[in-house]
Amino acid sequence: MPKLYEKNAKKRERAKELYLKNREEKILYSKEYRKKNLELIRIKKKLKYLEGREVILEKAKKYYEKNALSISEKGKEYRKTHREVILIRNRNRKSLLRTLAKNTDVTNNYVKGLIDSSIKCPLCSMDYKNKGDKHIDHILPINVGGMHRKNNIRIICKKCNLKRPKDGKDIKQDNSVQKAIKINGASN
Ligand SMILES: [Zn+2]
Repeated sequence: MPKLYEKNAKKRERAKELYLKNREEKILYSKEYRKKNLELIRIKKKLKYLEGREVILEKAKKYYEKNALSISEKGKEYRKTHREVILIRNRNRKSLLRTLAKNTDVTNNYVKGLIDSSIKCPLCSMDYKNKGDKHIDHILPINVGGMHRKNNIRIICKKCNLKRPKDGKDIKQDNSVQKAIKINGASN
C-alpha cells in the first residue's frame, strides 16, 4: 500500500507542476490576447448585451400578451381593495376642478371662438380636417399647477396633445410661454 501511495504521490506532483505551468501560460496568453483584441472584445461584449436586452424585451412582450386577462383582473382587484385611495384621489381631483372653475376667465364662447378660429396646429402645422382634431391644451398642465385661464389654454392637434409630457416639461424650453404664465399668476 505505501508503495502505491508513493507512486501516486509522484504522479500527483507531476500533474500539479504541469497544471501550474499550463495555468501561467494560459494567463499570459489571455493577457496578450486581450491587449491585442481590445476592440473586438468590446464589440463582442456589446453584442452579447444587446442580444440579452432583446431577449428580455421579447419575453416581457410575450408575458403581457399571454397574461393580458390576468393583468386586467389584477387592475380590477386593485380597484376593489384600494377603494379609499381611489376615492381620495377622485375627491382631490374634484376639489381641484372646483378651484379651477372659481378662478377662471374662460367662457364657453371664448373656447368656441378659439376652436372656430384655429386652422392649423401651432406645434406641427397640421391642417385640421375636423373638430375632433382640435384639442384644448393647458400649456402648463393642470396637474402641475397650471390654471384654466385664457393665457394658459390653446388649441393643438390631437396627436401633439397626446404626445405632450404630463408634467409639461416640454414648455420649459419655450421662454416666451413660460414668461406669460408667470406674469398671469399661474404657479410653476
Ligand atoms: Zn400638432
